[in-house]
Amino acid sequence: MGLRHTLDFLLYDWLRAGELTSRSRFADHSRETFDAVFDTCERIAREKYAPFNRTLDIEEPRFDGEKVILPKASKEAYDAFAASGMLSAAQDYEIGGMQLPYTVESAAHTFFAMASVSMGSGMLTVGNANLLMVHGTELQKSVFALNEFSGRWSGTMCLSEPQAGSSLSDIVTRAVPDGGDFASDPLGARYRLKGNKMWISAGEHDLTENIIHLVLAKIPGPDGKLIPGTRGISLFIVPKQLVDTRGQLTGVRNDVALAGLNHKLGWRGTTNTLLNFGEGKFPVQGQAGAIGYLVGRPHEGLSCMFHMMNEARIGVGMAATMLGMAGYHASLDYAKNRPQGRLVGPSGKDASQPQVRIIEHADIKRMLLAQKSYCEGALALELYCARLVDEQHTGEPGAANEARMLLEVLTPIAKSWPSEWCLEANSLAIQIHGGYGYTRDFPVEQYWRDQRLNMIHEGTHGIQAADLLGRKVVMAGGEGLRMLALRINGTIERAIQRPEFAEYANALGGALQQVGAATKAAWATGDAREALANAVPYMQAFGHMVIAWMWLDVALSIPAGAAQPPAHVGRLAATRFFYRYELPKIGAWLNVVSSRDATCADMPEEAF
Ligand SMILES: Cc1cc2nc3c(=O)[nH]c(=O)nc-3n(C[C@H](O)[C@H](O)[C@H](O)COP(=O)(O)OP(=O)(O)OC[C@H]3O[C@@H](n4cnc5c(N)ncnc54)[C@H](O)[C@@H]3O)c2cc1C
Repeated sequence: MGLRHTLDFLLYDWLRAGELTSRSRFADHSRETFDAVFDTCERIAREKYAPFNRTLDIEEPRFDGEKVILPKASKEAYDAFAASGMLSAAQDYEIGGMQLPYTVESAAHTFFAMASVSMGSGMLTVGNANLLMVHGTELQKSVFALNEFSGRWSGTMCLSEPQAGSSLSDIVTRAVPDGGDFASDPLGARYRLKGNKMWISAGEHDLTENIIHLVLAKIPGPDGKLIPGTRGISLFIVPKQLVDTRGQLTGVRNDVALAGLNHKLGWRGTTNTLLNFGEGKFPVQGQAGAIGYLVGRPHEGLSCMFHMMNEARIGVGMAATMLGMAGYHASLDYAKNRPQGRLVGPSGKDASQPQVRIIEHADIKRMLLAQKSYCEGALALELYCARLVDEQHTGEPGAANEARMLLEVLTPIAKSWPSEWCLEANSLAIQIHGGYGYTRDFPVEQYWRDQRLNMIHEGTHGIQAADLLGRKVVMAGGEGLRMLALRINGTIERAIQRPEFAEYANALGGALQQVGAATKAAWATGDAREALANAVPYMQAFGHMVIAWMWLDVALSIPAGAAQPPAHVGRLAATRFFYRYELPKIGAWLNVVSSRDATCADMPEEAF
């Protein structure tokens, strides 16, 4: 099935996205307007993204010492994307938005991610501007956020430093007040920043006339020393080109300099940069120090930034899903066309017969079904989370709160599960291609390389797992986990009404019980070191339970009946595959969690 067909089914038949139009915020919309958005995005992705995916991989961004050079296709794709209005799709009409539900916006982004993930579809820019809409002043919104939504400027998030990635409390970028009148700058309290930011995506390019960096830095305490921990961190807007209160460029370059580009395994269409802030390459009024405007209150920068990071995590999960989907579709196509070998009959193989196409081999079908169950299961989860975001924003207070709690628990899974399992899907896509898959003549090796990033950025796999087991499932006395269990039980109750799903309902009930018991056992001694030593196996089991839940819930939206169209036969087979081949794995993962197995934690360094 093509992506559009799968999306239509998940959105309209399963999630009932059409019902969102009964909410006042979305009242002007209808299925027709949603479909028109998908038509436009599908067309731009087909014409401006897909044909250039390999070009971006081969023609990596180059820095000539003055500027960064990207392939011509990057600018054309960016302009087409910005002109489509998708950067402000979810915003209010008054500021030029379309008031689209986030569910629809997320679904629309799938076309771009599948066609060329590193070409980008404004995830950082939109996240940056959204953050300012929540935490910025009125002027910061109109000067910075609105110019990002229009596509005139782009945005970054600058958290990581060479010595501080996972541990942001150890950043050392400093921000000091800029002059006696620093507090009265209309664009926000004005500081001078000095420090280095590593790994900054889209940190330098010429796609837009300005780049708006959102930078985490520490304001020193009264003793001039940086405050230890995350408490000391504040957030600043640092434009590459300084601007006035009407959003016009002043012609003064801010003191932000590109130190160099990182040369990546994949995802090469997006520049990745080491940026030096305030080292004096572009002095402002004769002084070194990058000008930055405070966002929100001092020392509350990380919690503001989390606003952007949560959205970014669902975005990463969706990108991972679509890279997996791209590999699935490519390998499906290959398997249907590649003749190789013969089927074994009761009396062996008959070499006088023509070869079969490899899709006829059971092992190839296994690899295709694995990919289908991972990628379409992940897509269901990402759309489900997007629907929760809409509920959080437009639902009744009780429902909005429930959605918020569920999102807390599900976000680490939405980010991490596709990052791991759609990477496995990409590996299987290579396997199906045999030797050809290992060459650059076919697209699947690039999908794998592009995908490998997702377990690293936006919180590594290990950090997400610690967040899930260390914080999310125990927060508010385990309320988020309890709400999730209620929803899963709701699906199980509906499934036991249908005999063909009874096997899955029982298995899912067992998995839920196992995860609940393992959560308690992990924390039985209250010692975080013991509990978290096996956080990743816990997250793997939790994620598999969630995806099994998604598949059963999706399957329930297929009307009962013996004769099903191929699309439904495929969904039912993917559900069966996931329950028979994947869900049983959780036992092994949870064993080490429940026993607080110390094999890894106790391994002496010198014994490696
Ligand atoms: C292509 C790319 C794009 C990126 N884009 C951006 C961007 O736009 N903006 C930005 O700010 N950053 C960006 N990053 C940075 C990214 O978020 C970091 O690489 C990531 O947070 C990990 O930090 P690190 O590389 O310093 O690795 P480290 O933090 O040193 O981690 C190394 C390993 O140690 C593990 N580890 C670390 N601490 C712990 C712990 N406490 N417990 C258990 N295990 C631990 C990690 O899980 C990991 O496996 C990007 C990175 C890449 C590669």
